[in-house]
Amino acid sequence: MADVLNYIDGVFVASHSNATIPNINPANGTTIGSVPASDAIDVDLATKAALRALPAWKTTSFEERINWLYAIADALQEQSQTIIALEMEDTGKPVSLARNIDAFRSVANFRFFADHGKQLPEPKFEMDQATNYVHRNPIGVVGLITPWNLPLYLLSWKVAPALLMGNTIVAKPSEMTPQTATFLAKVMDDIGLPKGVFNLVHGLGPQAGQAIIEHPDIRGISFTGGTATGKIVAATAAPMFKKLSLELGGKNATIVLDDAPLEEMMNSIVRASFANSGQICLCGSRIFVDKSRYDEFASSFTWHVEQLKVGNPHDETTNMGSLISVEHRDKVESYINLAVEEGGHILTGGTSAQHPVTNVPEGSAFLRPTVIGGLPAHSRCATEEIFGPVVTLHTFDTETDLLEMVNGTNYGLAGSIWTGDKQRGHQLATKVETGIIWVNTWLHRDLRTPFGGVKNSGVGREGGDWSLNFFSELLNVCVHE
Ligand code: NAD
Repeated sequence: MADVLNYIDGVFVASHSNATIPNINPANGTTIGSVPASDAIDVDLATKAALRALPAWKTTSFEERINWLYAIADALQEQSQTIIALEMEDTGKPVSLARNIDAFRSVANFRFFADHGKQLPEPKFEMDQATNYVHRNPIGVVGLITPWNLPLYLLSWKVAPALLMGNTIVAKPSEMTPQTATFLAKVMDDIGLPKGVFNLVHGLGPQAGQAIIEHPDIRGISFTGGTATGKIVAATAAPMFKKLSLELGGKNATIVLDDAPLEEMMNSIVRASFANSGQICLCGSRIFVDKSRYDEFASSFTWHVEQLKVGNPHDETTNMGSLISVEHRDKVESYINLAVEEGGHILTGGTSAQHPVTNVPEGSAFLRPTVIGGLPAHSRCATEEIFGPVVTLHTFDTETDLLEMVNGTNYGLAGSIWTGDKQRGHQLATKVETGIIWVNTWLHRDLRTPFGGVKNSGVGREGGDWSLNFFSELLNVCVHE
């Protein structure tokens, strides 16, 4: 694939203005192709198509929609090599990650919601002389807006439950990673999904994205992206009383207690810090270590981080590819420079000027994993989302100290606790202000569980029944005996 197109009413089309933006491969700086720079007119065409498709789609049986999800999952799975290749090209991520996380989870999301739909409870409440039946209607046309870090994985996490519950869709992926969403449209087209059920509009956030949020006929918005964008989305959608789900940024804590068997856990802690070059909203970017174990932890962690192989995404042994863009790398590097100004010292890594990744093409966006010690826990680097391969290390004396630092950010998405005592880990977990926390593991996901953040990390939950509840309007029917 090279130039991508919008997919509206079952047809692949350019934006009405023919305007485009370039799509760059960040691992080599070359232009892959063009992306339609759509605007409110394209969004309106897509919304009208989705509205036309709605009556027929919402009256298909639940079983039929389940079968569509299986058909999409099967078709994607058959072509998972294409998903891997496109995701690598758009993001610069390594092949092992594109295969094991992106391609695997995109298929799994469709299959999971198809399976889960079969067990959907139909709540019924008996009362004196009447029975209440809870009926689920679709919201109608829903807008799905997604970021660049796990492109098809995060889009499919929304598309599958939205389709299952009978909604029709206007989706907009990140302008930086348009290829797998277009591939999903092609797969749906190939298997004959009715036209207008899934529509795709590419383009920049403030134009195409904002037009989706503003469109009066789009009655539900599921948004995953940064907190600053989430504020704009909420400010636009709330006065229109749209149903809204916001999955936003994070500044997740990794907590290492004094009884943690470090050597056994170190590889997992490193993965929790640097998977996808730290560009996963769930990555732990602040590590709090019990003071009595700090020196031991810092030297072992730094050594393990230095073993990560950074470079050619096509090499099966590569652990970290490039960042999403040169501009994003500049932003991440500005935090490394800020850390030094704030009194931190670099234990390993540093900016690409200080410590370049060798043997990578000119114009690429690689950055070494960077570990910073000595920063106050309330410093900007330790409280603001960097969303790159940068981790700060901190110590704590008491649980009170620890919780004050851990809960001292505006974010509350995820975290992890590492300990030799599961019970102690469980008790501490309940005191962390966050939506998800792992004890002695990380990114261990059961898709039935609630996923989402507190504070500036978002509003609402996705996953299992929570997704199905979001993508439906509950109607209580009370029938007198
Ligand atoms: P972003 O907010 O810049 O963009 C996300 C999407 O919103 C893109 O498709 C973009 O084009 C669109 N957009 C931008 N402005 C818009 C507007 N005014 N109206 C409507 N849409 C608009 O985020 P990003 O840089 O693509 O992704 C990184 C961020 O996403 C990080 O903060 C990360 O933590 C977050 N994220 C959160 C989760 C989660 O589940 N909580 C998952 C992945 C990423």
